[in-house]
Parts: sequence; C-alpha cells; structure tokens
Amino acid sequence: MTGWLGWPFFEERHRVLADCVERWCAGRDFSHGRDVDAACRTLVADLGGAGLLQPCIEPDVRSLAISRATLAAHSGLADFAFAMQGLGSGAIAIAGSEAQRAQWLPEVAVGKAIAAFALTEPETGSDAANIAMSARREGGGWRLSGEKSYISNGTIADVLTVFARTGGEGHAGISAFIVRGDAPGLTVAERIRVIAPHPLARLRFEEVPAELIGQPEQGFRIAMQTLNRFRVSVAAAALGFARRALAEAIAFTSTRKLGKATLADNAVTQAGLAEMALGNDAAALLIARAAWAQDTQPGDPRRAAAMAKLHATESAQKVIDMAVQLHGGAGVTCGVKVEELYREIRALRIYEGASEVQRQIIARDLVREHRG
Ligand SMILES: Cc1cc2nc3c(=O)[nH]c(=O)nc-3n(C[C@H](O)[C@H](O)[C@H](O)COP(=O)(O)OP(=O)(O)OC[C@H]3O[C@@H](n4cnc5c(N)ncnc54)[C@H](O)[C@@H]3O)c2cc1C
Repeated sequence: MTGWLGWPFFEERHRVLADCVERWCAGRDFSHGRDVDAACRTLVADLGGAGLLQPCIEPDVRSLAISRATLAAHSGLADFAFAMQGLGSGAIAIAGSEAQRAQWLPEVAVGKAIAAFALTEPETGSDAANIAMSARREGGGWRLSGEKSYISNGTIADVLTVFARTGGEGHAGISAFIVRGDAPGLTVAERIRVIAPHPLARLRFEEVPAELIGQPEQGFRIAMQTLNRFRVSVAAAALGFARRALAEAIAFTSTRKLGKATLADNAVTQAGLAEMALGNDAAALLIARAAWAQDTQPGDPRRAAAMAKLHATESAQKVIDMAVQLHGGAGVTCGVKVEELYREIRALRIYEGASEVQRQIIARDLVREHRG
C-alpha cells in the first residue's frame, strides 16, 4: 500500500514515518462499541503515547498526508482522531503566541489534550466569511456568544480553536480564539449522529471566556491557512480509504467463483479494477504534488490543495462504490469492510470545503492567473 513513498516527492524520514504508523496499525484491533467518545479518547491517547501525533503540530504536510493515508486504510475513526488533533490546534501552531504554543501544542502532541476546530455555524457552512458568532472584549480578554454546528470532537474537546466576529461584515471582521473545553457558558446543545459515527456536536456559547490568537481580524486568514494544509490531508485520508477498497476488491474477486473461474478472471471485473487503480494513483500524484509544494516551494498553495481534495475525494467515492458493487450482496452487508468504507468516504466530499467550493477555488485562481 505504500508504493508512492518511492516517488521523488518524499524523503527517507517520510518512509520511516509510514513504516511506524503501519506497524502501529498492524498490531491493533480497531473495533469499538457504540461509545465513540470513549473510543476516540482512547485512540488519541494511544496515538499520542506512540509519538504518532507529532506531525499534527508540525508544518510538514507530507507527514500529515502519509499518516492519514496509512491510518485511514485501517480505521476511519483512527484517522479522524489523528486529523482533529492537527486541525483543532492548527490555528495555534500557525499564529499562536509563544505562551499559547507552549501551553497547548505539547499536550495535543502527546494526546493529553483533545482539540477541535469550530468554524461552521447552523446558518453558515460553505459561506464561512459570513459567520455570526460574536466576540466582545472584557477586561484583558474576550467573551464569545452564539452557536457552532457540526463540530468534530465537540463532545470531548479540551481545547477549541473558535472563529468569531470582532469587526464588520465579511471575512475582514473575523478573529480566531482559543476556548477551553471546560469553559463556563460552553454547552453541547445537540449531539449530531452521522453515517460514519464520530464525536460531533452543535455547541452553544453564552459569554464564554476566550483568548485571542494572533491579531484581531486575522481569523479568516488563519482559518484558510489551516484549511489549505488540512485539505491535502483530507485528500490523503480519501486515498487511504480507496486503496483499502481496491485491496478488498482484489482479495474478494480473486476467490469468488464465477463459473469455473473467479470473478477476477472476468474481463469486465478487470476493467473495473484497472479504473480503481488509475483513480488511486492519479489521486496520490495530486496529493504528493500539493503536499510537496506546500513543504518546499514558495507561492500560493490553494489551487494544488483544492485539486488534490477535489479529485481524491470524488475518485475515492467511485472506487469504493465499485468495490461495493464487486462484492455483490456482501458489499452492502453491515460490518463488511467495504460497507464501512462506503459510509466513511461520503462526508469528505462535503467538509473542509465541499467539492463545488474546491472547483470555485481552482477556477478563480486560473482566472486570476490569466488576468495577471
Ligand atoms: C462529518 C462532518 C464533520 C465536520 N466537522 C467540522 C468541524 O470539525 N468544524 C467545523 O467548523 N465544521 C465541520 N463540519 C462542517 C462542514 O465544514 C460543513 O458541513 C461544510 O462546510 C458545508 O457546509 P453546510 O453543511 O452548511 O452546507 P452548505 O454551505 O449549506 O452547502 C450545501 C451544499 O451546497 C453546495 N454548495 C455550497 N457552496 C457552493 C458554491 N459556492 N457553489 C455551488 N454549490 C455550493 C454544496 O454541494 C454543499 O454541499 C463538519 C461536517 C461534517 C459532515
């Protein structure tokens, strides 16, 4: 599953990391009960204990991508637990003061503090520049009021990076804040159940004490910088799911009888397998390019990150659907791996910028480039 690591985008340290993550996954039983909060806490603590959360607080996008592609191939929840430590602490890593970084990043990296990223609101998702949550100054600090929706780790976070309005309309009036999970006035208004369960909540903020990250009105830029980095890693998670789907499809069709031969000997099946492999390798190339460019090249990372997320998530959905199809009835049976992957992949085409938003980012960048 790790063939891409030989490509020139990656270095020896990435191959060592992939090996560590793979070995950690190989020895683990990822099954869990209905309590996803508890399962997630355990995963964060174990990943942290094994030193595997370190890439979450460092700027190397290739390490994030490799970790997520490897984890997702084994467990959607493990990938989620890993990713949220990075996304949730990204604003602190990018723009936090020395004191804020020293207080939170080491705890996040060892899995002692669970992190969350709170941008979306009940009335504002894709249109993030129009969030309504208000922030008002009080003494030397700030108080936040409003609601955030679809917040991953919302039920279990120890630290949240929250985006709220300190100035006028649009993206220019948004600032970034740190909120403690146990802050007075912060409550879980609703647990949100989704098709691939993980801790997800609508949160209510009533005069919640908060600490500013960076300068006022820099919040939207900080959020977009964080998302540019993590969009590439969402693409990598999609690739991990899709690679696992292809592996499952090859294993299943190689033993499933079709007349005197197996399904894998059938030309139509083979065409499907070839398309799946092509989709995966094209996604891997776009991810490797986007991650390598962010790590090593100057310039705007938006277009490459958007292309990687758009293609990898859309292609993974098709690859996984094909794997389900090749499994026949077994593919839609609860508990079968491809059925789980079918549920896991869906949200990746929506969160951290829906596919339509990624197309918009790419097209706007092309037009901007054309106009000079
Ligand atoms: C499982 C899950 C986890 C999440 N975790 C987090 C989290 O941790 N933190 C957080 O802040 N948010 C989180 N979100 C929220 C997520 O980022 C939003 O759902 C996403 O941004 C879309 O916003 P929305 O749901 O309000 O849909 P809307 O913005 O209402 O969009 C609905 C649909 O309209 C279409 N659309 C949107 N914009 C355009 C456009 N410009 N052009 C054409 N079509 C368009 C797309 O098809 C889109 O899916 C999560 C969501 C899910 C499902």
